[in-house]
Amino acid sequence: MVVVMQEGATDEQIQKVIDRLVAMGFDVHRSTGATHTVLGAVGIRTDFDPRDVELLDGVREVVRITQPYKLASRHFRPEGTVVDLGRSVRIGGNEVIVAAGPCSVESSDQIHAIAERVSKSGAKILRGGAFKPRTSPYTFQGLGEKGLQLMRQAADKYGLFVVSEVMDPSQVSMMLNYVDVLQVGARNMQNYHLLRALGEIQKPVLLKRGMAATIEELLLSAEYILSGGNYNVVLCERGIRTFETYTRNTLDIAAIPVIKKLSHLPIFADPSNGTGRRDKVPPMARAAVAAGADGLLIEVHNDPEHALSDGAQSLYADQFAQLMAELRIIAPAVGRRIG
Ligand code: PEP
Ligand code: MN
Repeated sequence: MVVVMQEGATDEQIQKVIDRLVAMGFDVHRSTGATHTVLGAVGIRTDFDPRDVELLDGVREVVRITQPYKLASRHFRPEGTVVDLGRSVRIGGNEVIVAAGPCSVESSDQIHAIAERVSKSGAKILRGGAFKPRTSPYTFQGLGEKGLQLMRQAADKYGLFVVSEVMDPSQVSMMLNYVDVLQVGARNMQNYHLLRALGEIQKPVLLKRGMAATIEELLLSAEYILSGGNYNVVLCERGIRTFETYTRNTLDIAAIPVIKKLSHLPIFADPSNGTGRRDKVPPMARAAVAAGADGLLIEVHNDPEHALSDGAQSLYADQFAQLMAELRIIAPAVGRRIG
Protein backbone atom coordinates (compact mmCIF):
# COMPACT_ATOMS: atom_id res chain seq x y z
CA MET A 1 0.00 0.00 0.00
CA VAL A 2 1.21 3.49 -0.76
CA VAL A 3 0.19 6.35 1.53
CA VAL A 4 0.50 9.84 0.10
CA MET A 5 0.56 12.51 2.79
CA GLN A 6 -1.01 15.94 2.28
CA GLU A 7 1.16 18.85 1.30
CA GLY A 8 2.29 20.42 4.57
CA ALA A 9 1.57 17.33 6.69
CA THR A 10 3.45 17.76 9.95
CA ASP A 11 6.22 15.44 11.14
CA GLU A 12 3.97 14.47 14.01
CA GLN A 13 1.17 13.44 11.65
CA ILE A 14 3.57 11.48 9.48
CA GLN A 15 5.01 9.70 12.50
CA LYS A 16 1.50 8.77 13.69
CA VAL A 17 0.73 7.19 10.32
CA ILE A 18 4.04 5.29 10.38
CA ASP A 19 3.32 4.03 13.89
CA ARG A 20 -0.12 2.89 12.82
CA LEU A 21 1.20 1.04 9.78
CA VAL A 22 3.89 -0.66 11.85
CA ALA A 23 1.26 -1.66 14.40
CA MET A 24 -0.74 -3.18 11.52
CA GLY A 25 2.25 -5.35 10.66
CA PHE A 26 3.77 -3.47 7.72
CA ASP A 27 7.38 -2.49 7.02
CA VAL A 28 7.33 1.20 6.20
CA HIS A 29 9.59 2.95 3.70
CA ARG A 30 9.51 6.74 3.86
CA SER A 31 10.23 8.98 0.92
CA THR A 32 10.24 12.71 1.55
CA GLY A 33 9.96 14.91 -1.53
CA ALA A 34 9.93 18.69 -1.94
CA THR A 35 6.19 18.95 -1.21
CA HIS A 36 4.87 15.49 -0.38
CA THR A 37 5.87 12.63 1.83
CA VAL A 38 5.03 9.19 0.49
CA LEU A 39 5.01 6.09 2.68
CA GLY A 40 5.38 2.66 1.14
CA ALA A 41 3.88 -0.01 3.38
CA VAL A 42 5.16 -3.47 2.52
CA GLY A 43 3.84 -6.70 3.98
CA ILE A 44 1.82 -9.80 3.25
CA ARG A 45 -1.31 -8.80 5.13
CA THR A 46 -4.50 -8.97 3.09
CA ASP A 47 -7.01 -8.33 5.84
CA PHE A 48 -6.48 -4.64 6.46
CA ASP A 49 -8.97 -1.91 5.70
CA PRO A 50 -7.31 1.00 3.79
CA ARG A 51 -9.95 3.36 5.18
CA ASP A 52 -8.36 3.01 8.64
CA VAL A 53 -5.31 4.78 7.21
CA GLU A 54 -7.22 7.15 4.93
CA LEU A 55 -8.93 8.72 7.93
CA LEU A 56 -5.72 9.56 9.81
CA ASP A 57 -4.79 13.25 10.02
CA GLY A 58 -2.57 14.50 7.22
CA VAL A 59 -3.29 11.63 4.80
CA ARG A 60 -4.24 12.61 1.24
CA GLU A 61 -4.59 9.26 -0.46
CA VAL A 62 -4.11 5.56 0.10
CA VAL A 63 -3.44 3.31 -2.88
CA ARG A 64 -3.76 -0.40 -2.40
CA ILE A 65 -1.19 -2.34 -4.42
CA THR A 66 -1.83 -5.95 -3.44
CA GLN A 67 -5.12 -7.70 -4.06
CA PRO A 68 -7.20 -8.76 -1.07
CA TYR A 69 -7.40 -12.32 -2.44
CA LYS A 70 -4.38 -14.60 -2.69
CA LEU A 71 -5.36 -18.08 -3.81
CA ALA A 72 -7.70 -16.79 -6.54
CA SER A 73 -5.03 -14.46 -7.89
CA ARG A 74 -3.29 -15.15 -11.21
CA HIS A 75 0.08 -14.87 -9.38
CA PHE A 76 -0.78 -17.97 -7.39
CA ARG A 77 -0.96 -20.13 -10.55
CA PRO A 78 0.27 -18.16 -13.55
CA GLU A 79 -0.30 -21.09 -15.90
CA GLY A 80 -4.06 -21.14 -15.16
CA THR A 81 -6.29 -23.77 -13.61
CA VAL A 82 -7.80 -26.61 -15.58
CA VAL A 83 -10.82 -28.28 -14.00
CA ASP A 84 -10.92 -31.88 -15.23
CA LEU A 85 -14.38 -33.45 -15.31
CA GLY A 86 -13.09 -36.76 -16.73
CA ARG A 87 -13.55 -38.39 -20.16
CA SER A 88 -11.29 -35.69 -21.68
CA VAL A 89 -13.59 -32.83 -20.73
CA ARG A 90 -11.39 -30.12 -19.26
CA ILE A 91 -12.51 -26.62 -18.38
CA GLY A 92 -9.84 -23.96 -18.70
CA GLY A 93 -7.73 -25.65 -21.37
CA ASN A 94 -7.78 -25.05 -25.08
CA GLU A 95 -11.35 -26.24 -25.49
CA VAL A 96 -14.45 -24.16 -24.84
CA ILE A 97 -16.93 -26.34 -22.95
CA VAL A 98 -20.67 -25.81 -23.38
CA ALA A 99 -23.25 -26.64 -20.71
CA ALA A 100 -26.82 -26.55 -22.00
CA GLY A 101 -30.26 -27.57 -20.82
CA PRO A 102 -33.45 -26.25 -19.33
CA CYS A 103 -33.68 -23.66 -16.62
CA SER A 104 -35.50 -26.26 -14.49
CA VAL A 105 -35.85 -30.01 -14.70
CA GLU A 106 -39.61 -30.52 -15.20
CA SER A 107 -40.17 -34.16 -16.12
CA SER A 108 -38.41 -37.26 -17.38
CA ASP A 109 -39.66 -36.71 -20.94
CA GLN A 110 -38.58 -33.08 -20.95
CA ILE A 111 -35.05 -33.66 -19.67
CA HIS A 112 -34.50 -36.67 -21.94
CA ALA A 113 -35.68 -34.78 -25.02
CA ILE A 114 -33.41 -31.82 -24.25
CA ALA A 115 -30.41 -33.96 -23.28
CA GLU A 116 -30.64 -35.81 -26.59
CA ARG A 117 -30.70 -32.61 -28.62
CA VAL A 118 -27.98 -30.70 -26.79
CA SER A 119 -25.62 -33.66 -26.77
CA LYS A 120 -26.08 -34.09 -30.53
CA SER A 121 -25.14 -30.46 -31.01
CA GLY A 122 -21.95 -30.86 -28.98
CA ALA A 123 -22.80 -29.80 -25.42
CA LYS A 124 -20.69 -31.68 -22.87
CA ILE A 125 -22.63 -30.80 -19.74
CA LEU A 126 -26.37 -30.94 -19.07
CA ARG A 127 -27.59 -27.99 -17.02
CA GLY A 128 -30.87 -27.88 -15.14
CA GLY A 129 -32.14 -26.65 -11.81
CA ALA A 130 -33.73 -28.97 -9.27
CA PHE A 131 -33.63 -26.37 -6.49
CA LYS A 132 -34.69 -23.07 -8.00
CA PRO A 133 -34.01 -19.72 -6.32
CA ARG A 134 -37.13 -18.01 -7.68
CA THR A 135 -37.85 -14.34 -7.04
CA SER A 136 -41.44 -15.16 -6.08
CA PRO A 137 -42.29 -17.95 -3.63
CA TYR A 138 -45.45 -18.69 -5.65
CA THR A 139 -43.61 -19.79 -8.80
CA PHE A 140 -42.24 -23.26 -9.59
CA GLN A 141 -39.52 -24.08 -7.05
CA GLY A 142 -38.06 -27.17 -8.74
CA LEU A 143 -38.49 -30.93 -8.35
CA GLY A 144 -35.76 -31.28 -5.71
CA GLU A 145 -33.96 -34.63 -5.43
CA LYS A 146 -36.36 -36.23 -7.91
CA GLY A 147 -35.24 -33.68 -10.49
CA LEU A 148 -31.61 -34.60 -9.88
CA GLN A 149 -32.39 -38.29 -10.40
CA LEU A 150 -34.12 -37.56 -13.71
CA MET A 151 -31.25 -35.39 -14.82
CA ARG A 152 -28.62 -37.98 -13.94
CA GLN A 153 -30.50 -40.65 -15.91
CA ALA A 154 -30.82 -38.43 -18.99
CA ALA A 155 -27.19 -37.28 -18.77
CA ASP A 156 -25.90 -40.85 -18.47
CA LYS A 157 -27.96 -41.96 -21.45
CA TYR A 158 -26.40 -39.28 -23.66
CA GLY A 159 -22.89 -39.19 -22.19
CA LEU A 160 -23.21 -35.79 -20.55
CA PHE A 161 -21.95 -34.38 -17.27
CA VAL A 162 -24.43 -32.71 -14.91
CA VAL A 163 -24.39 -29.21 -13.40
CA SER A 164 -27.12 -28.15 -10.99
CA GLU A 165 -27.58 -25.46 -8.40
CA VAL A 166 -27.02 -26.04 -4.71
CA MET A 167 -28.77 -23.50 -2.49
CA ASP A 168 -27.92 -24.63 1.01
CA PRO A 169 -25.05 -26.44 2.78
CA SER A 170 -27.51 -29.12 3.90
CA GLN A 171 -28.02 -30.19 0.25
CA VAL A 172 -24.33 -30.71 -0.57
CA SER A 173 -23.82 -34.35 0.44
CA MET A 174 -27.09 -35.51 -1.18
CA MET A 175 -26.26 -33.69 -4.40
CA LEU A 176 -22.82 -35.31 -4.65
CA ASN A 177 -24.67 -38.52 -5.60
CA TYR A 178 -26.10 -36.94 -8.75
CA VAL A 179 -24.08 -34.03 -10.07
CA ASP A 180 -20.60 -33.51 -11.52
CA VAL A 181 -20.53 -29.76 -10.93
CA LEU A 182 -22.28 -27.84 -8.16
CA GLN A 183 -23.58 -24.47 -9.28
CA VAL A 184 -23.71 -21.55 -6.86
CA GLY A 185 -26.33 -19.15 -8.15
CA ALA A 186 -26.02 -15.39 -8.37
CA ARG A 187 -28.24 -14.98 -5.32
CA ASN A 188 -25.93 -17.15 -3.25
CA MET A 189 -22.55 -15.79 -4.31
CA GLN A 190 -22.15 -14.30 -0.85
CA ASN A 191 -23.70 -17.15 1.10
CA TYR A 192 -20.53 -17.73 3.03
CA HIS A 193 -21.73 -20.84 4.85
CA LEU A 194 -22.44 -22.43 1.49
CA LEU A 195 -19.05 -21.36 0.09
CA ARG A 196 -17.26 -22.80 3.12
CA ALA A 197 -19.15 -26.09 2.77
CA LEU A 198 -18.08 -26.28 -0.89
CA GLY A 199 -14.47 -25.69 0.15
CA GLU A 200 -14.57 -28.94 2.08
CA ILE A 201 -15.30 -31.14 -0.92
CA GLN A 202 -13.37 -31.72 -4.15
CA LYS A 203 -16.28 -31.67 -6.61
CA PRO A 204 -16.05 -28.82 -9.12
CA VAL A 205 -18.03 -25.67 -8.33
CA LEU A 206 -19.47 -23.22 -10.87
CA LEU A 207 -19.59 -19.93 -8.99
CA LYS A 208 -21.84 -17.31 -10.54
CA ARG A 209 -21.27 -13.60 -10.14
CA GLY A 210 -23.85 -11.93 -7.93
CA MET A 211 -26.10 -9.50 -9.74
CA ALA A 212 -24.66 -6.55 -7.82
CA ALA A 213 -21.19 -7.94 -7.20
CA THR A 214 -17.93 -6.41 -8.32
CA ILE A 215 -15.29 -8.62 -9.89
CA GLU A 216 -13.25 -8.29 -6.71
CA GLU A 217 -16.19 -9.54 -4.64
CA LEU A 218 -16.61 -12.51 -7.00
CA LEU A 219 -12.94 -13.39 -6.59
CA LEU A 220 -13.21 -13.06 -2.81
CA SER A 221 -16.15 -15.47 -2.87
CA ALA A 222 -14.01 -17.89 -4.89
CA GLU A 223 -11.29 -17.39 -2.25
CA TYR A 224 -13.66 -18.83 0.38
CA ILE A 225 -13.91 -22.09 -1.59
CA LEU A 226 -10.20 -22.21 -2.45
CA SER A 227 -9.11 -21.48 1.10
CA GLY A 228 -11.07 -24.52 2.25
CA GLY A 229 -8.96 -26.68 -0.07
CA ASN A 230 -11.20 -27.09 -3.12
CA TYR A 231 -9.34 -25.74 -6.16
CA ASN A 232 -11.90 -26.96 -8.68
CA VAL A 233 -13.64 -23.65 -9.09
CA VAL A 234 -15.04 -22.22 -12.32
CA LEU A 235 -16.36 -18.65 -12.33
CA CYS A 236 -19.39 -17.52 -14.33
CA GLU A 237 -20.35 -14.07 -15.60
CA ARG A 238 -24.14 -13.99 -15.78
CA GLY A 239 -24.97 -10.33 -16.08
CA ILE A 240 -25.25 -7.58 -13.52
CA ARG A 241 -27.93 -5.04 -12.65
CA THR A 242 -27.45 -1.71 -14.34
CA PHE A 243 -29.74 1.21 -15.24
CA GLU A 244 -30.53 -0.48 -18.55
CA THR A 245 -33.95 -2.15 -18.56
CA TYR A 246 -34.18 -3.54 -22.09
CA THR A 247 -32.29 -6.68 -21.18
CA ARG A 248 -32.91 -8.60 -17.95
CA ASN A 249 -29.31 -8.02 -16.89
CA THR A 250 -26.26 -6.45 -18.52
CA LEU A 251 -23.86 -9.21 -19.50
CA ASP A 252 -20.46 -7.85 -18.57
CA ILE A 253 -18.38 -9.25 -21.42
CA ALA A 254 -15.42 -7.13 -20.32
CA ALA A 255 -15.37 -9.11 -17.07
CA ILE A 256 -14.07 -12.09 -19.06
CA PRO A 257 -10.69 -10.62 -20.07
CA VAL A 258 -10.46 -8.76 -16.74
CA ILE A 259 -10.89 -11.98 -14.77
CA LYS A 260 -8.46 -13.82 -17.08
CA LYS A 261 -5.84 -11.28 -16.09
CA LEU A 262 -6.63 -11.14 -12.37
CA SER A 263 -7.25 -14.82 -11.73
CA HIS A 264 -6.12 -18.30 -12.81
CA LEU A 265 -9.66 -19.67 -12.52
CA PRO A 266 -11.60 -20.56 -15.68
CA ILE A 267 -14.52 -18.31 -16.54
CA PHE A 268 -17.87 -19.22 -18.12
CA ALA A 269 -20.50 -16.86 -19.48
CA ASP A 270 -24.27 -17.29 -19.16
CA PRO A 271 -25.88 -15.30 -21.98
CA SER A 272 -29.35 -16.63 -21.07
CA ASN A 273 -29.59 -14.97 -17.66
CA GLY A 274 -27.30 -12.27 -19.00
CA THR A 275 -29.90 -11.03 -21.47
CA GLY A 276 -33.21 -12.66 -20.51
CA ARG A 277 -34.26 -12.80 -24.16
CA ARG A 278 -33.91 -15.75 -26.51
CA ASP A 279 -33.11 -13.56 -29.53
CA LYS A 280 -30.17 -11.94 -27.74
CA VAL A 281 -28.59 -15.17 -26.49
CA PRO A 282 -26.71 -16.24 -29.67
CA PRO A 283 -24.98 -12.88 -30.27
CA MET A 284 -23.83 -12.66 -26.67
CA ALA A 285 -22.71 -16.29 -26.66
CA ARG A 286 -20.62 -15.56 -29.75
CA ALA A 287 -19.20 -12.44 -28.12
CA ALA A 288 -18.30 -14.33 -24.95
CA VAL A 289 -16.34 -16.95 -26.87
CA ALA A 290 -14.61 -14.23 -28.88
CA ALA A 291 -13.72 -12.49 -25.61
CA GLY A 292 -12.02 -15.61 -24.27
CA ALA A 293 -14.66 -17.42 -22.20
CA ASP A 294 -13.70 -20.97 -21.23
CA GLY A 295 -17.26 -22.14 -21.49
CA LEU A 296 -20.91 -21.22 -21.80
CA LEU A 297 -23.99 -21.99 -19.75
CA ILE A 298 -27.04 -21.83 -22.00
CA GLU A 299 -30.71 -22.45 -21.38
CA VAL A 300 -32.32 -24.69 -24.02
CA HIS A 301 -35.86 -26.08 -23.92
CA ASN A 302 -37.80 -28.49 -26.11
CA ASP A 303 -40.99 -26.46 -25.61
CA PRO A 304 -40.06 -22.99 -24.33
CA GLU A 305 -43.62 -21.64 -24.57
CA HIS A 306 -44.65 -24.09 -21.86
CA ALA A 307 -41.48 -24.02 -19.77
CA LEU A 308 -42.10 -23.80 -16.02
CA SER A 309 -39.34 -21.20 -15.69
CA ASP A 310 -37.39 -18.85 -17.97
CA GLY A 311 -39.00 -19.96 -21.24
CA ALA A 312 -38.42 -16.55 -22.81
CA GLN A 313 -34.66 -16.84 -22.49
CA SER A 314 -34.46 -20.50 -23.49
CA LEU A 315 -33.28 -21.37 -27.00
CA TYR A 316 -35.12 -23.83 -29.21
CA ALA A 317 -32.99 -26.92 -29.82
CA ASP A 318 -32.56 -25.92 -33.49
CA GLN A 319 -31.31 -22.48 -32.50
CA PHE A 320 -28.82 -24.09 -30.15
CA ALA A 321 -27.55 -26.36 -32.94
CA GLN A 322 -27.09 -23.32 -35.17
CA LEU A 323 -25.27 -21.42 -32.43
CA MET A 324 -22.88 -24.32 -31.86
CA ALA A 325 -22.05 -24.34 -35.57
CA GLU A 326 -21.26 -20.62 -35.41
CA LEU A 327 -19.13 -21.05 -32.29
CA ARG A 328 -17.08 -23.68 -34.11
CA ILE A 329 -16.12 -20.97 -36.58
CA ILE A 330 -15.46 -18.26 -34.00
CA ALA A 331 -13.40 -20.27 -31.50
CA PRO A 332 -10.45 -20.99 -33.86
CA ALA A 333 -10.18 -17.27 -34.61
CA VAL A 334 -9.14 -16.80 -30.97
CA GLY A 335 -7.01 -19.93 -30.77
CA ARG A 336 -9.63 -22.17 -29.18
CA ARG A 337 -11.80 -25.13 -30.12
CA ILE A 338 -15.32 -26.04 -29.09
CA GLY A 339 -14.87 -29.12 -26.87
C1 PEP B 1 -29.86 -20.44 -13.46
O1 PEP B 1 -28.77 -20.67 -14.02
O2 PEP B 1 -30.90 -21.04 -13.74
C2 PEP B 1 -29.94 -19.35 -12.48
C3 PEP B 1 -30.86 -19.36 -11.53
O3 PEP B 1 -29.00 -18.42 -12.66
P1 PEP B 1 -28.57 -17.16 -11.75
O4 PEP B 1 -28.19 -17.71 -10.42
O5 PEP B 1 -27.42 -16.60 -12.52
O6 PEP B 1 -29.76 -16.23 -11.70
MN1 MN C 1 -33.01 -19.82 -15.38
